[in-house]
Amino acid sequence: MKTSKFYISTLREAPAEAVIASHKLMIRAGITRKLGNGLYTYLPLGVRSLYKLENIIREEWNETAGALEFKPTVIVPGELWKESGRWETMGPQMLKAKNRGEQDMVVSPTAEEAYTAIVRDGLDSYKQLPVNLYQINTKYRDEIRPRYGVMRGREFIMADGYTMNADDESLDESYKAYEKAYFRIFKRLGLKIIPVKADSGAMGGSGSEEFMVESPIGDDTLIICPNEKCGYAANVEKAECALDESTNKKGEKVAATDKALEEVETPNVFSIDDMEKFFDESPKMFIKCLIYRVINSSLDYSALDCAKNWKRVKDPAGDYYPLSYACVCIRSDLDVNEAKLAATLKASEVVLAEDEEILEYAQAGHGFVGPMTSKCPLVVDFSVVKDGQARMHDAITGAGKNGYHVKHVEPLRDFTPYINADVRTVKEGDKCACCGGVFYQKKGNELGHIFKLGHKYTKSMHVTFLGQNGKPTEPTMGCYGIGVDRTLASIIEANNDEKGIIWPMSVAPFQVCIVPIKYEGAMKEAADKIYDELKAAGIEVLLDDRAERPGVKFADMELIGIPLRITVGDKNLPNIEFKPRAASEAELVPATEATAKAIKFVKDALAQLNA
Ligand code: ATP
Ligand code: MG
Repeated sequence: MKTSKFYISTLREAPAEAVIASHKLMIRAGITRKLGNGLYTYLPLGVRSLYKLENIIREEWNETAGALEFKPTVIVPGELWKESGRWETMGPQMLKAKNRGEQDMVVSPTAEEAYTAIVRDGLDSYKQLPVNLYQINTKYRDEIRPRYGVMRGREFIMADGYTMNADDESLDESYKAYEKAYFRIFKRLGLKIIPVKADSGAMGGSGSEEFMVESPIGDDTLIICPNEKCGYAANVEKAECALDESTNKKGEKVAATDKALEEVETPNVFSIDDMEKFFDESPKMFIKCLIYRVINSSLDYSALDCAKNWKRVKDPAGDYYPLSYACVCIRSDLDVNEAKLAATLKASEVVLAEDEEILEYAQAGHGFVGPMTSKCPLVVDFSVVKDGQARMHDAITGAGKNGYHVKHVEPLRDFTPYINADVRTVKEGDKCACCGGVFYQKKGNELGHIFKLGHKYTKSMHVTFLGQNGKPTEPTMGCYGIGVDRTLASIIEANNDEKGIIWPMSVAPFQVCIVPIKYEGAMKEAADKIYDELKAAGIEVLLDDRAERPGVKFADMELIGIPLRITVGDKNLPNIEFKPRAASEAELVPATEATAKAIKFVKDALAQLNA
């Protein structure tokens, strides 16, 4: 390719809204252009890298994961989403539309429904399973805050695979095959990946794993055990830790008390700090109670008095409460993790309740909420009660009356959990439950996810096959996703300098560029010769034949990040300059050897990534 025939569209400055390196460089190098908020076009240069990345995923999913590519539509009938129950529960992320016949349509945010419907239609016997299909296709999610360019877009490309399996053993095989393919893919892209357990079965379970790259702008917090033999790493949304003792201000363990509850007037004591001063005690002696608004919980609260006014919606995927409430009790030096809380309540979301709601469910304002007086289900953290044993004694908590606290609280004597669960946020410094190692944390960005779905969709969408025993059986499912754009951006994020991008060979838009100082005379002749030879050898080469100053051409090629530059100048001929993008110095090489040396450079770089 010659630059005069290509669409090079580089910019000196990135728009002000681009704050991270990859976003700035994708715009400046002419890889993407913004069309609207969260909507990015790939320019021809970007398309070349994008397709290479997609093809690496294709190759590994075909070969290593044993999957077959299919191509569902992006627009999917709303009916299918109503069947699965996600029409209601997916929330405002899902873009819905009506066609001219007033039929509901969905712009795919993900494709479990489409896949399940397609496979369901032809499925009768166990002999057809497993069915392992994937697509690389456009997705749309109406993200509230699209940001960092294509890292979190609204329209984006996802490689998503789905397996339908006859039993758990088969699902395990599919899952492991994808896991292996993921490691191969990220290796070929030159990305250092941190696999983290993303389910609470981290101590033994293997139902969900996220593939993260470390990144200061990462949306995820990773909790990592430093002990390599242990290897525990989890998303903070799921991380668990060893429980420590709750102790008083002298650091002593506190014994159970048989003293009766005692109300104490505590005017102006609202925060944990205020309590610490007022009671002259450690926050490990206080039980913090918080009222949460719970969205779309599918627990059954029908036996509870407080639930009489809560609306329960019938749904094929399981009945649920669009709005309910819970009171969370946790040792006051710890924080509630809302992702863990939502998972515990089988809810799509939890949010701290507003003042009026707190008054309604706690009989008191924020700061005075107590477990004995709250009028909604008590979710008690393991820091307070675990395995039927109180882990705090003689504690202090809100009295459920404005301006009052209560002393000598004994969990299980004075209140009973409705649910006893682990809902704390694990932090740096907490200890690993597996090996006692002291956790550290990192920011990470999720590039991919593998997940055992189980029977969620086959149940709600009524998929069955005739099992080996001749009985109708529900298949189990797995799903496997990689964010293609986010991965591309992450490669740039990890490979750049002040001049621009430094592409790894596997996804570079061109492998070699040739820059003649002037495209005329002997320089033109030498450049054309190397160009023709490299092309004939199957090397992807860009010849900069523009009538620009050499400085402009160098700056563009460096910004674009082509891994190798061959500079042809009349001062150096019959030698040329051979300069890998990542190297600081150029090397003079006889022009007659340039082709062979460039071919070797490209092949070695690819071989190293593919090893
Ligand atoms: P996140 O927590 O970042 O929103 P997710 O858990 O919603 O991700 P999945 O539903 O597992 O993501 O989708 C699979 C992959 O698609 C993710 O690992 C990520 O790489 C990519 N992805 C998800 N949302 C976006 C987005 N808005 N823009 C770009 N890529 C995305
Ligand atoms: Mg998301």
